[in-house]
Amino acid sequence: MTQHIPARGQICPNCDGHASAAVTLGGRTPAGHLRTITAHCPACHGTGTRHTARRRTVKA
Ligand SMILES: [Zn+2]
Repeated sequence: MTQHIPARGQICPNCDGHASAAVTLGGRTPAGHLRTITAHCPACHGTGTRHTARRRTVKA
């Protein structure tokens, strides 16, 4: 059984890779655009990947 693990890190389980999302505030700007704010995932801080707490230790 082999698993393919991406080298650049794991997808954040909190946001499933969607690290930031536009949240509508329920209004429109004078220009007619939706008023939105960008919310970043608190778990990965907008990176979309999960950083493992495990550090590589080099044995001397
Ligand atoms: Zn995340």
